[in-house]
Amino acid sequence: MAITDIDQRNSMLAAIIEFSEDAIISKDLNGYITSWNKSAERMFGYTAEEAIGRNIELIIPEDRKSEEKVIISNLREGRPIEHFKTIRLTKSGQLIHISLTVSPIKNSLGVVTGASKIARDITQQVLAEELISQHATRLELINAFGRKIVSHLDVQTILQTVTDACTQLSGAVFGAFFYNKIDQKGETYTLYTLSGASKEAFDKFGMPRNTEVFKATFLGNSPVRSDDITKDPRYGKNYPHNGMPKGHLPVVSYLAVPVVSHTGAVIGGLFFGHPKACVFKEEHELLVTAIASQASIALDNAKLYEDVNSLNRKKDEFIGFISHELKTPLTTLKGYLEISRDNLEVLAQVQPKLNKQVRRLEEIISDLLDISKIEAGKLDFSFSRIGLCALVKKSLDALNHADHEIEFETPATEIAVNVDVQKMTQVFVNLLSNAIKYSSPGTKITLTAGQFGSEARFTITDQGIGILPEDIERIFSQFYRVNESKDNVQGIGLGLYISRQIVDGHLGRIWAESEHGKGSTFYVSFPVERS
Ligand code: ADP
Repeated sequence: MAITDIDQRNSMLAAIIEFSEDAIISKDLNGYITSWNKSAERMFGYTAEEAIGRNIELIIPEDRKSEEKVIISNLREGRPIEHFKTIRLTKSGQLIHISLTVSPIKNSLGVVTGASKIARDITQQVLAEELISQHATRLELINAFGRKIVSHLDVQTILQTVTDACTQLSGAVFGAFFYNKIDQKGETYTLYTLSGASKEAFDKFGMPRNTEVFKATFLGNSPVRSDDITKDPRYGKNYPHNGMPKGHLPVVSYLAVPVVSHTGAVIGGLFFGHPKACVFKEEHELLVTAIASQASIALDNAKLYEDVNSLNRKKDEFIGFISHELKTPLTTLKGYLEISRDNLEVLAQVQPKLNKQVRRLEEIISDLLDISKIEAGKLDFSFSRIGLCALVKKSLDALNHADHEIEFETPATEIAVNVDVQKMTQVFVNLLSNAIKYSSPGTKITLTAGQFGSEARFTITDQGIGILPEDIERIFSQFYRVNESKDNVQGIGLGLYISRQIVDGHLGRIWAESEHGKGSTFYVSFPVERS
């Protein structure tokens, strides 16, 4: 080959080496650097002047120094090394991932005198791989976990599993799940499960309050993750503790994630703590958030299961109760018919008693039919115009009130209202018969009717046993009967419930006021005109 050809070839190779994207380094068999291209300068931060003549150990991290011995021994035997993934150290102290290809350099006699190294920076690729593998591990964990908790239908087990797993996965020293039970002051949270700490450790501090730090979680906002919660601007704002109560488990690193139901309601929050700073990373937050959403599905399922069970229990109770209520008048009827068999005189005597039991059966069956219509959303109304006095009179006519004096106050001029006459009469009959049932014979019952603004308003006042404040709202629910009246007075606890549904259908209101032991007033009001 002519000299000029060799020169040309050498300078071409030199250009390729110089402008290669990869770092190309050569070294002798003792590891001393003999060449260092531009990419090597860029990748490792040393200039060619700084690197050439130094040992290659310059860019090998302490814990990988032994690699070089293996590389050299391979080279001596003429064995190349291809795409060896390792880590190297830059001038600024940064560790970078590289893929290394080392080939022996031989002299004209074929003896290995050194090596050329081609190093490719694969840091981004390795980080991306790490990220993918982290995601895969996280997904596996979440899936495995999801399968585990979804198979449970017991709230306590689900929450304990969730709290334990999240405490472990986040590296927290302790974790807790608090139920969201916001009262009017917005302050009631209930401790449900704990992990890594005993219940006693929390008992003396009471429940977390609606402080600035906790609020975000119980309102279902995004997770709160802090490297040092004591430095958080929201921390320490609330009296009396102004931060953690004395003796509280020390929390510096803090992570809190809301658990939100599919309806959007906040079921509660998962809280994690660690006495050291900077423990919880984004990774932990993502993991706990994913598990929290699995937990909410499991909790929704558990709630449905509980609801179904409780409905089943209620249904069984209902069947037992109604069977008993129907059987009592039937047994009485049977008894009277028995004693009056073939005896017309006795039959005539027991006639009113027979009628009473038949009426009782009719009442129960009619209430049950109403309830089934209400439950099916089929309580239909048929409106017509009637005067207030006429409406009240109809109700009084339908009632047996021989033992009570009923005082009746109505406006001087008749006021016409638009109502379902049959159903509204049923409301007044029910209220009046309650007034009779729950007060002593001979006492007075007052009924007033009048117009207040755009509303028709009725009151029914008795001087009976009265109702305790804690029962005043409950008496309008299905089957609720005050203990005091249960034993001596017949009833199945549906009248007021049905009355409320009827009044609701008139866009009105029904409520009670009472002084226990003195008497009660029931109010019914609804718009005079239906818009
Ligand atoms: P029932 O009278 O068939 O039990 P209601 O739904 O009409 O059912 O009433 C529910 C409960 O409310 C009654 O069982 C009774 O305890 C209480 N209650 C209703 N009206 C009165 C009243 N005027 N005075 C005292 N207690 C009453």
